[in-house]
Amino acid sequence: MAIQDKVKINENTQLLFEKAADFLNLSEEARFLLKNPYREISVQIPIKLDNGQFKVFNGYRVQHNGSRGPYKGGIRFHPSVDIDEVRALAALMTWKTAVVNIPFGGAKGGVNCDPKKLSINELEKLSKGYMSKIDLVVGPYRDIPAPDMNTNAQVMAWMMTEYSKKHGHTLAIVTGKPIALGGSYGREEATGRGCVYVIKEASKDFGIDLTKSTCIIQGFGNVGSNAAKFMEEEGSKVIGVSDVQGAIYNKQGLDIKELLKYREEHGTISTYPKAEKLTNEELLELECDILIPAALEGVIYYDNAPRIKAKLIVEAANAPVTIRADKILEERKIPVIPDIIANAGGVIVSYFEWVQNLQQFTWDLDEINFKLKKKITKSYRDIYNYAKENNLSLRTAAFVIGIQRVVEATKLRGWI
Ligand code: NAD
Repeated sequence: MAIQDKVKINENTQLLFEKAADFLNLSEEARFLLKNPYREISVQIPIKLDNGQFKVFNGYRVQHNGSRGPYKGGIRFHPSVDIDEVRALAALMTWKTAVVNIPFGGAKGGVNCDPKKLSINELEKLSKGYMSKIDLVVGPYRDIPAPDMNTNAQVMAWMMTEYSKKHGHTLAIVTGKPIALGGSYGREEATGRGCVYVIKEASKDFGIDLTKSTCIIQGFGNVGSNAAKFMEEEGSKVIGVSDVQGAIYNKQGLDIKELLKYREEHGTISTYPKAEKLTNEELLELECDILIPAALEGVIYYDNAPRIKAKLIVEAANAPVTIRADKILEERKIPVIPDIIANAGGVIVSYFEWVQNLQQFTWDLDEINFKLKKKITKSYRDIYNYAKENNLSLRTAAFVIGIQRVVEATKLRGWI
């Protein structure tokens, strides 16, 4: 995805890394090792479309750093996927798994495609084709993919099936699977739920009473719609949401259950009748207590950052705020809870799924949610305290904590 500040997303992520590396006084060798991915693969996936024509798709898997355990990261199907984007998202996964202290490294994958233009049959071929091209570099103790934008439990089921064809039945090869195929209770909504656990904890620090708060969410997919549901349950008034087709706004608050039903029936929320229609750009600039970008990277950038009126920004998407916007928001004293903690609920429950698969054991939903809450809340608290003690932004504090853990593991292995 092109970031509108004209800074490519990977460059953006590297600049964030450098800021934290300066604070830690990291050596040049350590910086080089930690900035660049361990392995990148780029594959062609030719599939026969329903109309009989062949089409070749480009797919990627980037394994950024595996010092702390097997690589872990989602797979994205999107027309903007390229190696630069996958590299950046893989690095973010390294810092994310470290900051919430789960025993994984960081990876990411993607296929450049427009899934909306593919039939279910073509999607299945693409998912299986992609896995068949990367199967030698992934594995339950090597690299464990998961869903991301435009991929879901069904896609994971296809990928697990393809991997198992060659390597024997292997539930733990991917996470985010359907419950009927070894998925974990609570995984589907874990990112949105985790995000709201973080907001609940953070609201104490920023003087926000959730029951009197207003909230705006960009993106109404897996992460955004679940965040909306849980924010509503916390008593927050969700006054605006959007999807790729447009935004809707209602000052009185939107009924999220009704909206979820509307999306199911119409495939979009942008035409929902009981609200005013806006553009995605306009939505981000409305007054609210909590703004949750939950769609794409780079949506809060140099130009619109001065016009953001939210009291708190929570990055449910990966990299929605550019480094230039971050600086403006910092000057304007608008706190940003960074992606590597705000959306870590998904990878935390993916970790629980992996553990359950390896043990051939199932935990119930209450246990999953209890464990998720404990882990993500403590991780947020550690970041907040570290930021306060060291006069850092929450983002730099989170990067510093994550990088420190990766450096320690890397040194212990004798790699630096
Ligand atoms: P999704 O495909 O389920 O939903 C994406 C949503 O964003 C949809 O509502 C879509 O219409 C909307 N959207 C797409 N393009 C848009 C645009 N140009 N403007 C406004 N809205 C647009 O994806 P998701 O899984 O919810 O992921 C959303 C973000 O959260 C991504 O950045 C992803 O990397 C991140 N994330 C997801 C997970 C997870 O568990 N799914 C975990 C961590 C981070």
